[in-house]
Amino acid sequence: YNPIETVRQNIRTIPDWPQPGVNFRDITPVLQDPRCFRMLIDIFVSRYMSQNLDVVAGVDARGFILGSVVAYELNLGFVPIRKKGKLPFDTLGEDYNLEYGSASVEIHTDAVHAGQRVLLMDDLIATGGTLLAASRLLKRLGANIVEACAIIDLPDLGGSKLIEESGTSVFSLYKF
Ligand code: 5GP
Repeated sequence: YNPIETVRQNIRTIPDWPQPGVNFRDITPVLQDPRCFRMLIDIFVSRYMSQNLDVVAGVDARGFILGSVVAYELNLGFVPIRKKGKLPFDTLGEDYNLEYGSASVEIHTDAVHAGQRVLLMDDLIATGGTLLAASRLLKRLGANIVEACAIIDLPDLGGSKLIEESGTSVFSLYKF
C-alpha cells in the first residue's frame, strides 16, 4: 500500500466553491479517517524528524490542525499565526492581497526567538500570499524558516515559486 496515494484519494474536490469557477480542495475526508489522518501526519513527521527543528508554526485555520499534531509528534512547541484581531498579547502583523480586497495575519512578538529553526505549515498554497505574509512575520522575529510546507500546491497560480524566490524553500505532497 502507498500512503501518499491513499491520502490523495481522500482529498475531495468541490466544484464552484466558494464561488463559481473555483475547484475547492477539501481535506476534511483525510482528517475524518483515522488511518488516513495518521498517514498524512507521518509523512510530514518523517520528513522533518531529523531537521533539528525548534518549533512548528501553523497558519489559521487548517494549518493549526496539521501543525499542532506534527509539533506534538516531533516533541516541539506550536505557534499559531492567526487572522487579525485574534491574538491577545503584543503582536506583529502583515497584510497581503486577496483576489478581491486584502487580509492580515498576526503573530505574538514572543512566539519565536531569533535564530530558531521553524517549520511553517498550511494545508494549501494558491497565490502564496498567506504563507508569504506568515513567513515575513517569522523573519521579522529573526526566525530561520527551514521550510514552508503544505499538503497541496496549485503551481499554476505561482505561489510556491514566489515563496521560493523570497528565499524560503517549499515542500508540498501534491501538485494539482
Ligand atoms: P493563498 O494565500 O496561497 O492564495 O491561499 C492559500 C490559503 O487559502 C490557505 O490558507 C488555504 O487554507 C486557503 N485555500 C485557498 N484555496 C483552497 C482550497 O482549494 N482548499 C483548501 N483546503 N484551502 C484553500
